[in-house]
Amino acid sequence: MKFYILTLFPDMVMQGLSTSIIGRAVDKGLLSIEAVNIRDYTNDKHGKVDDYPYGGGAGMVMQAQPIYDAWKAVIDKIGHKVPTVYLTPQGRTFCQEDAKSFAKEEAVILLCGHYEGVDERVLEEIVTDYVSIGDFVLTGGELPAMVMVDAISRMVPGVLSNKVSGETESFENGLLEYPQYSRPEEWNGKKVPPVILSGDHAKVDAWRHQQSLLRTKERRPDLLEKAALSEKDIQFLREHE
Ligand code: SAM
Repeated sequence: MKFYILTLFPDMVMQGLSTSIIGRAVDKGLLSIEAVNIRDYTNDKHGKVDDYPYGGGAGMVMQAQPIYDAWKAVIDKIGHKVPTVYLTPQGRTFCQEDAKSFAKEEAVILLCGHYEGVDERVLEEIVTDYVSIGDFVLTGGELPAMVMVDAISRMVPGVLSNKVSGETESFENGLLEYPQYSRPEEWNGKKVPPVILSGDHAKVDAWRHQQSLLRTKERRPDLLEKAALSEKDIQFLREHE
């Protein structure tokens, strides 16, 4: 899977995505991540990429020409159009289903805005998806792009060494994940729940599922409305009201 990140701050995204699991997946050739510096494509002799907004108002707006030419260079390199995401607080909120769906693409282009945003006309020309990472405003699209690359990459086959860990994680079955414990068996006077030391896998799985239900009910009750719950789950939740 290939990510092309159109940005004014290529070092920021490349540094953030070169370590740990994502960095290793790039080294193994499972992913490729390229930061394309929008400034390299400006026709302005002073290297300018932004200007004042027509109609007045605070801040600067990223101009259409350098963004379009940077995007076109990527498309020409790939040989055909691919999904182009504009990271914006005005987009739909990114979720695990989106991560899985984008992971099936051969390539994705991520456009990072900065300042007050981007000239609307270039967005109309190139963007297929408007995506937000939450209802708050950041200074730029670089962190959101990194968030997307990380979440999508985990869903690319081979990136996680343990396939099961991706499948049991929060949101996979519409629920939050159960609590996790590791050595020692007792820490700070707190003991690990005895059931997970029992060696009885069926009991451990049942306990974990119940913990997922309780945790989701407590922290994200909105998820329960959409989760595929069995009669037994519904009964269990009723008993724990
Ligand atoms: N003026 C814009 C508005 O009110 O919708 C906000 C611009 S913001 C200061 C600068 C850039 O940061 C945006 O163009 C976008 O790329 C990025 N950004 C900020 N918050 C974001 C969020 N929650 N999700 C995704 N991108 C975001």
